[in-house]
Amino acid sequence: MNIVPEIAALDTEMRGWRHHIHARPETAFEEVETSRFVAEKLESFGLEVHRGMAKTGVVGILRNGASTEAVGLRADLDALHVHEKSGVAHASTNVGKMHACGHDGHTTMLLGAAKAMSQRKDFDGIAYFIFQPAEESAGGGRVMVQEGLFDRFPMKAVYGLHNWPSMPTGKIALRSGPLMAASDIFEIVATGKGAHAAMPHLGRDPMPFAAHVINALQTVVSRNIHPIESGVVSVTQVHGGDTWNVIPQEVVLRGTVRTYKPEVQDLIERRMGEIVAGIATTFAMTATLRYERHYPATVNSPAETHHALAAATALVGAGNVDSDPMPSMASEDFAFMLQAKPGCYIWLGTGRGPDTPNLHNPHYDFNDDALQIGASYWVTLAEQQLSRKATVRRAA
Ligand SMILES: [Zn+2]
Ligand SMILES: [Zn+2]
Repeated sequence: MNIVPEIAALDTEMRGWRHHIHARPETAFEEVETSRFVAEKLESFGLEVHRGMAKTGVVGILRNGASTEAVGLRADLDALHVHEKSGVAHASTNVGKMHACGHDGHTTMLLGAAKAMSQRKDFDGIAYFIFQPAEESAGGGRVMVQEGLFDRFPMKAVYGLHNWPSMPTGKIALRSGPLMAASDIFEIVATGKGAHAAMPHLGRDPMPFAAHVINALQTVVSRNIHPIESGVVSVTQVHGGDTWNVIPQEVVLRGTVRTYKPEVQDLIERRMGEIVAGIATTFAMTATLRYERHYPATVNSPAETHHALAAATALVGAGNVDSDPMPSMASEDFAFMLQAKPGCYIWLGTGRGPDTPNLHNPHYDFNDDALQIGASYWVTLAEQQLSRKATVRRAA
């Protein structure tokens, strides 16, 4: 393991930052204190700091040498609405909110990298340290892109990472192409005609509609998309009826769709519309489908995946890098940055054995032993991409 020496020297300090942030979790677009903490730290390292992008986002700029070549490194600031049950000394003091996804660790590792790179000055170009709000569901990454992140801070590529508790600490996984799925939500509202439950012939019952739609939706993945392609259609809510002897007027179904490819996403949305309309006709209902595309798939570009692989290999060794992991059907709003810029998103192993609580679990706590690894990955990647030797070669 080739931990960057300046990062190793920061280990105790990084643990302190992480615990400070963990104890004060803030959710989407309200990361005011976290954002202030990050901005003040970056300023103390001598970086130029831009506050207020997407409300609470922060961008720190570190320049060295004459080159204007630039890379972006991104972390997320937000916590979740989870009641913490970890029992750790630095547990949440904001009741009902918790850093259950490890964004406290992500923020800390990127701060550590900024401090170490400002001390080492072993690169030629510009490193942008991007701290985005609202990763969990509100799309803070999208807002930063919409507010001109890449126009204000021109860069050749942008990189992200997520801690991965199901993978041992010291391992890194990444792949070219999709690593995380697109996440969409849907709502189906069926309106029939309420009636006495003993007189169904006088009404139009939306319950059989719901039963048929739930079954038919399961045929979209199994019968319509190519067997080698991937997709998930999950109906997660059924709402209808209040009592035993009344046929309700209305039933509402809700759920989520996950895909890797836009053409599969298009197909699923189209088939869902056809199924809802067809079964509504069959049962003489009025039915509507509201389908919202939330996060696109997180798709790594080939060249930048190669660069990330080189940094990961230099850090943890080839034997600890999985360059062909099974992608996840969870989603990630770094996807919006990758739609706008080439880049690569990796998984950083943070597991402590098979019983490690996973992301979003109330017993989860970011593994501090991984702080040095993630921070060293950032330094290694940025210095390789903004290499002084490369500048000399270009000049020659
Ligand atoms: Zn999360
Ligand atoms: Zn997360």
